[in-house]
Amino acid sequence: MAPIPDDVTARAAQLTALLERYNHEYYVLDAPTVPDAEYDRLFRELQALEAAWPALRTPASPTQRVGGTPVPVFESVRHAVPMLSLNNAFSDLTQDDFAVRHAEIIQFDERVRRGLGRSDSPVRYAVEPKFDGLAISLVYEHGVLTQAATRGDGLTGENVTENVRTVRTVPLRLATSQPPALLEVRGEVLMLRRDFEALNAAQAARGDKVFANPRNAAAGSLRQLDSRITAQRRLSFFAYAIARVEGATWPDTHQYEMQWLEQLGLPLVVPALRPVVEGVEGLAEYYERVHAQRSTLPYDIDGVVYKVDSLADQARLGFVSRAPRWAIAHKFPAEEALTVVDAIEEQVGRTGALTPVARLRPVAVGGVTVTNATLHNEDEVHRKDVRVGDTVIVRRAGDVIPEVVGVVLERRPMQPVAGGDLFSPSEVPLHPPYRIPATCPVCGSHVVREEGEAVARCSGGLVCSAQRKQAILHFAGRRAMDIEGLGERYVDALVDLGFVHSVADLYHLTLADFVAMKARSDETASPLAEAEVPGAASSSRTAPTRWAENLLAGIAASKTPPLARFLFALGIRHVGESTAKTLADWLGSLERVRQAPAPILAALPDIGLVVAEAIAEFFAEPNNAAAIDALLAAGVRPQGEGLPAAALAEQLEPARLLTRMGIPRLTELRAGQLLAQAGSLEALVTLAPEQLPVAWPEPLRLAWREWLAQPERRALLAATAHQRSALLAALPAMPDVSANLPLAGRTLVLTGTLPTLTREAAQALIEAAGGKVSGSVSRKTDYVVAGEAAGSKLAKAESLGVPVLDEAGLQALLAGTMAGGEAAS
Ligand code: NAD
Repeated sequence: MAPIPDDVTARAAQLTALLERYNHEYYVLDAPTVPDAEYDRLFRELQALEAAWPALRTPASPTQRVGGTPVPVFESVRHAVPMLSLNNAFSDLTQDDFAVRHAEIIQFDERVRRGLGRSDSPVRYAVEPKFDGLAISLVYEHGVLTQAATRGDGLTGENVTENVRTVRTVPLRLATSQPPALLEVRGEVLMLRRDFEALNAAQAARGDKVFANPRNAAAGSLRQLDSRITAQRRLSFFAYAIARVEGATWPDTHQYEMQWLEQLGLPLVVPALRPVVEGVEGLAEYYERVHAQRSTLPYDIDGVVYKVDSLADQARLGFVSRAPRWAIAHKFPAEEALTVVDAIEEQVGRTGALTPVARLRPVAVGGVTVTNATLHNEDEVHRKDVRVGDTVIVRRAGDVIPEVVGVVLERRPMQPVAGGDLFSPSEVPLHPPYRIPATCPVCGSHVVREEGEAVARCSGGLVCSAQRKQAILHFAGRRAMDIEGLGERYVDALVDLGFVHSVADLYHLTLADFVAMKARSDETASPLAEAEVPGAASSSRTAPTRWAENLLAGIAASKTPPLARFLFALGIRHVGESTAKTLADWLGSLERVRQAPAPILAALPDIGLVVAEAIAEFFAEPNNAAAIDALLAAGVRPQGEGLPAAALAEQLEPARLLTRMGIPRLTELRAGQLLAQAGSLEALVTLAPEQLPVAWPEPLRLAWREWLAQPERRALLAATAHQRSALLAALPAMPDVSANLPLAGRTLVLTGTLPTLTREAAQALIEAAGGKVSGSVSRKTDYVVAGEAAGSKLAKAESLGVPVLDEAGLQALLAGTMAGGEAAS
């Protein structure tokens, strides 16, 4: 025999070492580090090497052995009948040709028929799901459960009787009055998906480790030293084989075995999932049916199992080293696979949300080739610490978008660092941790991530091509600019064919554009329906371009929207119709809304800081500013612009504004104290630390100084102060209601006793008429009202020449019938 090449020997040794390590992690530690598909790939590679060079196949090879070594902490159990594994077969579901698609199953059936010497007649197979749990052997003596053991290495397993007793569906006693003297049942212990999710939620809530999948959870729970812990975990059991029978007749087919077990009270999978089928076609049909059902089952399965139904035939076929010849596990395409991250890029969604996406080396997962996987958001990337160059586990279950489950850290590309020693690493990762970009990869507008939000967004809503269609549809909507007839299909066509890039382009469209658009979109699969435009269908016979004329008219008619609708139409994040109306009502003009810094917006009723910031960010983005200018240049004129609301002065109280700048710990009271010290908002920027209010505790002083230390915050303060002054200056002059009162601005002095009015009554009447009552007479006194026994005040009035009235004179004054200067002295 030819000598084995060195590289083959080396590779076989390498594969053996890897498989042994993965076996240990999987079977003993219940903590696999690679997906099953990776394990299976290496396993098959080693099998192939051993097939080509049989001398490599030693009894110690992982291909010849079952499971993992039982751990000594459990009592060991010698299996009377070995617990074997199953050989695996795969199908390539991307292939259409049946013979190619199911080649391995065809080979299996051929081997079975050859072994049975039955080349023509089809074989009957009992078929079942392949549960993704762990194998268990149950021994019943005279109907009573006396022993439960794990598979271990197939010959010796672990005694887990106490733990299995806590599994609710395992009968402790068989449901029969005449039990066999001995019955050994084999089956799978697993955890239902809903129990797995509940367990993981509870583990997470307690801060305990969460399990990677239901199989690990089931294995970890069953192999507990304390059966009270196992009892708290909800495990399930399904029986699928009989290993020994004494004192009863052993049924002669697998199907009858299962029926008998069912009568004895052992749990089995529902009958619809365990039919008997004939030949390869029967197998393939079952496989594809169960594969389609996979994600809807209450438990995980990783394939289906085919067993020759006749026990006599099974005996004739016998075993190879680690698996029966009469059965095979037909595995589903792996839902998890390993691959390498070539790059991390961001996708911008229709709403501007940036989603980091891993660009992957192409890999087959779940029956399709996957080249991208979502990373959800920046926090998620950090949590998993996915970096460029990393080897990652990719998962694609059912029709779900592929995702990166985790990183295989040992395979992270590293680079050496100088001066590494025992205390500092000698190598560091080649690539830095991921960061979401500061600008949108599509349009270059700045990216904003709101506080407490996981999602980062592009702020260029009006210009970003990723958001364009959504933005235009919203803009044209009934409650926004209300462009009659401009629905989704026209917007799609206009954007896809390059007629419209930004909302302002709508106002430059011509009849010729629409006709050209329709001609070009009619060439594509779904021609535009003319009936989409109201009135188009009826008139199309007489005027074939009527629909386009209607659209143009609709666009032209939308040029003069009320300001609130225009603001709503811009599609600013968080700005719905009511916020748009608040902005329009209070600030009165588009220009003032555009200029307003966030604190001023946040001082308006019903606008919070987050919304205010979103508005300010939107208008601060130069791309958006350009788009709005383009709209104005195209002749769009918001209607009803005017002065700011008169009550704005109250809303813009400096202390109120200060509390809307996001300064930590600053209450309105403290803001008032600060302003009393500084004198004005403007002066705050230069307020010296020793001038801070004496009443302020140290942490507050510190928070203020830290806040103010940032130049952009000083700029915000200055801009807010400036805009506040500008707004107040624009306010309509306050109509002074008191100016019309008869005694407005007048000061009166009362002296002596009036004939009918008491002092208090007289004072109340004077004040109600807008006047003031003073206690002493001076040059500024307008009138002295003198009654009986008036004293020095009357004399003073006379000496200063202040007019003196009696009660009747006062009444006349109050009634407004006497003008100030005409009073008799
Ligand atoms: P197997 O899972 O391929 O098949 C045999 C097992 O199938 C049985 O022991 C039994 O537990 C189970 N089974 C489920 N339903 C059954 C049914 N209806 N009838 C009969 N048996 C049924 O073989 P295995 O030796 O248990 O495990 C090998 C597999 O485990 C590998 O193919 C790999 O996917 C996985 N594994 C993964 C790693 C890893 O690191 N990720 C390591 C070791 C093994």
